[in-house]
Amino acid sequence: MSHEREATYSSVAGIPLHYSRNRHYGERGDNLNFSSTQRLKDILDQCFETLIEESPFGKPDLIVTAGLYVNKPGFHGRGLAVDVDAIYWADRTLVSVLYPFDQVHYLAVESVFRQYFGTVLNYLYDPPHEDHWHMDLGTRADFYTDSPSRVLYLQASLTHIHDHPVLIDGVWGRQTSGAIREVLQELALGTDIENMSTWQAYLRRTASKGFEMVAQAPVLPPKEQLKKAIDSLFEADVRKEQYKELAQSLLNLSHHPNLGGSLEP
Ligand SMILES: [Zn+2]
Repeated sequence: MSHEREATYSSVAGIPLHYSRNRHYGERGDNLNFSSTQRLKDILDQCFETLIEESPFGKPDLIVTAGLYVNKPGFHGRGLAVDVDAIYWADRTLVSVLYPFDQVHYLAVESVFRQYFGTVLNYLYDPPHEDHWHMDLGTRADFYTDSPSRVLYLQASLTHIHDHPVLIDGVWGRQTSGAIREVLQELALGTDIENMSTWQAYLRRTASKGFEMVAQAPVLPPKEQLKKAIDSLFEADVRKEQYKELAQSLLNLSHHPNLGGSLEP
């Protein structure tokens, strides 16, 4: 067996790996075997162990991946990359394409991913990555200011988790450097975000703050979610964003534990 496919597995950190791209994106799909280097498998185990420890929803039921080793050039072909479409918990679902309606949870989870992966391409990076996180081991899990994907994450986390809104454009400038300086001070962390231990501490604090916010946010009862979703269908001007909101509402609704084939509250 070649090095890039030396490990074959159907779960990471005890969480089943599913694939649904042969049917419908974002669905639970089927539990399949995937291959990669042992190095990537070990890092995925550690990364999702950390997610299980940090998430207020505990251990996910399953991870929907769009693939690990793929016979093509680049890090997938070297068994060093993974694509994540969605994560399902018992009563919570995180689907990558629904980022605009689930920013805090999305960024909290990404704050865990970035503790282990240097290269993380997300919804904000470019249109092909709106529907999955691409993560690979091609770079160290550090921060540097001329990395657009890292700066995009930092700007989004400053804006949505640390309440220091900045322009989210992937370009390091005075506004971003001023905001991170203030937040590092507030968190009593180091002063230099390019310092590896300061960056890792920022990621840990951002994950826990984000998860705290998600855990405290009110969840509408299923009947109200459905009403909101149906109301939005009748809006005169239904834009792409509203369709996404509708999809999120219906997803939440369809996985609500109290919805056992009846719409009664
Ligand atoms: Zn990928």
